[in-house]
Amino acid sequence: MTLDWQVCSRARLTRDPRFDGKFFIGVVGSGVYCRSICPAPTAKEKNVHYFATAAAAAEAGFRPCLRCRPECSPGTPAWLGTSNTVSRALRLIGESGLEDGGVEVLAERLGVGSRHLRRLFLKHLGATPIAVANTRRMHFAKKLIDETTLPMAQVAVASGFGCVRRFNAGIRKVYHRTPTQIRRLARRTSLQPENQYLFRLRYRPPYDWKGMLAFLAPRAIPGVEEVAGGVYRRSISVDGNHGYLEASLDEQNHAVLVQVQFGDPRSLFFITERVRAMFDLNADWAAIVQSLKTDPDLAPRVEKNPGLRVPGCWNGFELAVRTILGQQVSVKGATTLAGRLVKTFGQPFVGAGGVTHIFPEPQILANARLSSIGLTTSRAETIRALARAVRDGKITFEGIADSESFLTRLCEIPGIGHWTAQYIAMRALGEPDAFPCGDLGLLRALGLGSSRELERRSAAWRPWRAYAAMYLWSTGHGASTSQRGAGRDSGPAVINSADAFPKRETLIHAAR
Ligand SMILES: [Zn+2]
Repeated sequence: MTLDWQVCSRARLTRDPRFDGKFFIGVVGSGVYCRSICPAPTAKEKNVHYFATAAAAAEAGFRPCLRCRPECSPGTPAWLGTSNTVSRALRLIGESGLEDGGVEVLAERLGVGSRHLRRLFLKHLGATPIAVANTRRMHFAKKLIDETTLPMAQVAVASGFGCVRRFNAGIRKVYHRTPTQIRRLARRTSLQPENQYLFRLRYRPPYDWKGMLAFLAPRAIPGVEEVAGGVYRRSISVDGNHGYLEASLDEQNHAVLVQVQFGDPRSLFFITERVRAMFDLNADWAAIVQSLKTDPDLAPRVEKNPGLRVPGCWNGFELAVRTILGQQVSVKGATTLAGRLVKTFGQPFVGAGGVTHIFPEPQILANARLSSIGLTTSRAETIRALARAVRDGKITFEGIADSESFLTRLCEIPGIGHWTAQYIAMRALGEPDAFPCGDLGLLRALGLGSSRELERRSAAWRPWRAYAAMYLWSTGHGASTSQRGAGRDSGPAVINSADAFPKRETLIHAAR
């Protein structure tokens, strides 16, 4: 394990929120484990143990602290910078737990042996894959007990315990209290109506929420998404059920406040995990900034707007369609086309604000007459081909263990070139090192002439090149609003590829 004792100690003594979730503190005597920000009186150094993960602390026999609530921490950074395999495994566990086949299947998908995977987990996280998955489930159960009014039987199912008896036993073992006793202790601020939930999802500060919304707003799909008054809202669809969510910043608590309206509580874990990915809440800013600030072109941008994140997406298929619509047109033009597509082929839905539709499913778009909304014949065929591939399971955006083969499969669709594929990977897979090397906006921002030069230059930013791209695309908050969002869709421009991008002045200058 690579925990630096002195760094942990300093962070603990100063209750530094930038380290929240990067390590946990086991306190000998009380037997609990805490976040770095725990408000309880600070224990003596000789009485504490540091753990890389909550799972490791739990394995060592410590219980979660009821004051700082480790389940509310931003969690283990998704990217550890040390092991790609562990990062990907963590993402897969986050997507579906270990339910489909356990460690063996997980290891197979990652192309390694299960014993090797176990060793990697112990080395980097201090806990086995099973312990990590169990701790996540336990933490989510605790969150549902504390933050919702769901009946315990439903909490048991929603957090993956299967039955109430196992749930009760599990909670009692870990917390030395019954679920009902824990709920009584919770300081819930407001009661939510039925089927509505309010979650506070923590991040490690700083977080540039304004920068995140400035990126999402011009690209929001009319009818499906809306950004207004500092709030992001959208319709959602999970396993055929429809709902709605809304996200806003709770800066004081270093959290994004998420209001979810959804009928089936079993989807809540998926929904909250997806929101974390959408807003890149697991990012470890302290590590990212170390690398980016060494570049003379990036340093001033990073200093001016610290905490910019890489926007993920709610749904990979939706993002891919939106990206194809953006090829060779301005952001504004693409947004107009996306709005027409949704009005024509989407399902009506009653949400708040401008949210009126559910984004059309692949099976609808697979045979849709897309020329009716003003698409060129070739672009319409690209979207239909993508929709068919997704419908038939040839392309999937979930559970991707190998991003290279994912990129290859995307590029096999006529009309999807390298830029489009890399951009989709960057946002749908949350790969922090994904980087569209041929992007015209990036080349111009750095005054470089070729993608090879950019590739060379970007080597120093690894493994955080996606963040560098965001900074280079971003014009910063100081830019005039007329420029912001008026530019081309972040990117295209792999030169000599299917995406080849016309050098239109209006499309170039805002570069994102
Ligand atoms: Zn604590």
